Amino acid sequence: MKKGIYTQLDPVLFGSGTVAAAGDKAKEIGITKAMVVSDEGVEKAGHVETLTGALKEAGLEYIVWAKAEKDCPDQTVAEAAAIAREEKVDGIIGIGGGSVLDTAKAIAAVTANDDQVLKDIALYIMGVKTYVNAPLPVLEIPTTSGTGSESTFVAVVTSTDLDCKIGLPVPPQYAIVDPQLTCTVPQYITAFTGMDCLAHATESLSEAKNTAHSDLLAYEAIRLVHEYLPKAVADGNDLDAREHLAFASNIAGISFNESGTHVGHSCAHAIGHHYHLDHGVCCADVTPAVIRFTARDYPEKIKRYGEIFGVEYSGEETSEEIGRKTAEAVSAFGKSVGVKTFREEGLTKEELLKLAEEIDADHLAHCYGGELTRSDIEEILAGSYED
Ligand code: NAD
Repeated sequence: MKKGIYTQLDPVLFGSGTVAAAGDKAKEIGITKAMVVSDEGVEKAGHVETLTGALKEAGLEYIVWAKAEKDCPDQTVAEAAAIAREEKVDGIIGIGGGSVLDTAKAIAAVTANDDQVLKDIALYIMGVKTYVNAPLPVLEIPTTSGTGSESTFVAVVTSTDLDCKIGLPVPPQYAIVDPQLTCTVPQYITAFTGMDCLAHATESLSEAKNTAHSDLLAYEAIRLVHEYLPKAVADGNDLDAREHLAFASNIAGISFNESGTHVGHSCAHAIGHHYHLDHGVCCADVTPAVIRFTARDYPEKIKRYGEIFGVEYSGEETSEEIGRKTAEAVSAFGKSVGVKTFREEGLTKEELLKLAEEIDADHLAHCYGGELTRSDIEEILAGSYED
């Protein structure tokens, strides 16, 4: 078997109603005055109030900043960090989807240091630069089931200077995954966040650092998304489906934090950034083409993946045929839960292909555990349009 390191970044308190323990957990990780980070949609859904109720109960001092924006623009991080410094908070609690959780992480690093962190962002992910001061402790509470950001070491930030989405390393100290909070996620967001989870599991199987352990979590996440995403899309109040999806999202996050994502996410970041599409939609539309591509080097894994999706194989198939059959099933699944194709989003194939050079220059794309050429990237982009 392949050698590798098993890891889990942060402890996770899982279960419906567990948000009630947020105050005690925040204290456990050393927070005495918290900045609660969220966004307008999550605040409107009532979850910030539920959280602050729990903080009051525990006697924890806090301020609320619910102005996070989609895809974590760097200027919003700088604005919030200035407030956090002025208010002398000593820890951050993120409650929201991936955009909020990433904003919370980035605020923790920038508050403890300064805005130069955002200017030098590329140097941190490459390990060329390290923080002078450790980021403030972060407690993450996801309200969507998709990103797994509560258990990953990066915040995906939109950099104004670099004109792209890029990772900033900030490991959270603790996560509370309370599936009850996800019952208010609107139907379309439920669908595409579920496909984001599937994309994490898909890429984790074939990133260079994959282990038997990261595979185990990825296969289970694939199984759970296949079984429960259609149920949660059909009925947002199906708590059983929401619970299984929240678990799937978290374990897919743990899986790819240990292994990684690669060319699919590099494509999704570039497409989402330049054409202003939701991250989960980009992931959903790219994943079938990524499956076809990775079947070249990982046919057995892609076959097992397809079997979870109910694909039947004769045993005589070539790697290419295994890839094609599995990709067809995943593409049909994405459409069945209602995620729009790039074509339906109004993009052209040429607009996608224009991004091949940028994706080829992105380190993330080449984290794939095999060879990846520029023409492979073009094939993935063209395929993601045609699927
Ligand atoms: P999101 O955080 O952008 O939220 C989408 C919308 O859903 C928002 O309007 C929000 O207000 C609303 N919403 C969230 N929870 C809700 C709830 N419970 N009830 C009602 N409305 C709710 O979407 P997302 O897909 O969760 O996150 C996407 C972001 O996460 C992208 O920027 C992506 O790059 C990032 N990401 C990060 C990682 C990581 O490891 N750090 C991994 C994957 C994705």
